[in-house]
Amino acid sequence: MKRIVSLFLAILLISCCIVLAGCGDKSKTVLINGAPLSEYTVIIPEGCDNVTRYAAENFVDLTKDVLGLELTIKSDLADPMDKEILIGATNRAESKTETALKDKEYLLFTKNGKIVMQGYDIYIGGACGDFINKHISPALSADKRKIDITSIAKEPTPTEFKFANKSTSVIFMIGDGMGNQHIRMAEQNGLTKFIGKKLPYSASVTTSSESVLSGEIGWTDSAAAATAMSTGYKTLNAYLGLDKEGNQLKNIRELAYEKGAKTGILTTDVITGGTPAGYLCHHTNRKDTEILQAQIDKITNDKKIDYIKGEVGNSLTDETKYALDTLSAGGSPFFIMIEEAQIDKMSEAHDYNGTIDAVKRFDDAILYAVEFTLCHPDTMLIITADHETGELVPKITNEYKFEFKTYHHTNYNVPVYAIGSGCESITGDLDNTDLAKISAKAFTDSPFGNND
Ligand SMILES: [Zn+2]
Repeated sequence: MKRIVSLFLAILLISCCIVLAGCGDKSKTVLINGAPLSEYTVIIPEGCDNVTRYAAENFVDLTKDVLGLELTIKSDLADPMDKEILIGATNRAESKTETALKDKEYLLFTKNGKIVMQGYDIYIGGACGDFINKHISPALSADKRKIDITSIAKEPTPTEFKFANKSTSVIFMIGDGMGNQHIRMAEQNGLTKFIGKKLPYSASVTTSSESVLSGEIGWTDSAAAATAMSTGYKTLNAYLGLDKEGNQLKNIRELAYEKGAKTGILTTDVITGGTPAGYLCHHTNRKDTEILQAQIDKITNDKKIDYIKGEVGNSLTDETKYALDTLSAGGSPFFIMIEEAQIDKMSEAHDYNGTIDAVKRFDDAILYAVEFTLCHPDTMLIITADHETGELVPKITNEYKFEFKTYHHTNYNVPVYAIGSGCESITGDLDNTDLAKISAKAFTDSPFGNND
């Protein structure tokens, strides 16, 4: 009996050692001046803006995904510690620098054993991304992470952020009904500056469907517009994933899935809504919700999608964070379409506050996605709308400085904003089918969509 107990204890001891060695190896692969990264705490300024907060959250999330480390984020009101990663303009002496930064530039340096990360506006994520890519990227082999980081600059030297040569993941964000004036109205009612306008690429997009081009109706619906952006083909209003003759078209989510990428759909609308259904279904009538739901259920049951969520209520940003964490886990390439549907619905109701709130909610989710993109520089981020809703025009006498003129969609051009490799052609005037072709480049070298 005694021998059995001894044997049992010995096995237990060996098992513990193996487990501990395993964990130890993982947590100590990144060393900062000889100390493991796990001993560090991330510090951000108390009450900082969401740019800094989301950059820090992305840094911590990716560190957890790659290294299995749970780094803590603390406000700079916490007592200073020896081992700190200072993100943004914290109150620590090490964060103080006279170095002026220009657009796209960031700082990454060490001082007194602390790591300092700063950036020009949204490019603070660039400093986090640089550190991740050099030292803890999933693309690096484990031994590459076993380095003593004495190579980090000792002086704050501005560096211009560079994306990977090629994007292998796509975040495609749609503000349903969001025209240029919807953005301007939000900016004149509390939104400092729409995040899309801080991105390096932008263009004006035509939204006409085949039904508009044939003169049948004056504006596209969400189904035809989503089909154009997901397949690269124009179609009739109400059609989903079909050309005007009713032939089935491959959408970009299906293309990404075929190429081994993870895929996801996230919307504040019902999942059978025109926009999400344009990335999921193939059918002639967007109103046949039972048929659409059956098609979506089949995709889900066949496990041909990795993340799907409709009717997101409170925080689109929180759900965006969860979705991106899920899809990018283990460094996987992915495609996701994220939609804020309330801009359209509130505009149709001429609800000014509701429209403004929806644009602000969308803007905050975009900011999270921007910081994610800077921490994952093999990702392209495209932000656009499917059409304009409500013919919103400036009107100085209105309480909100703008006025809705109609209760339906219009044929106005909508804006597109983008960041990442592969987005260089997002400039000047584009068609909504071009956006499918541009985003498909992350998944195939072959032509995608129509070639007119
Ligand atoms: Zn729409």
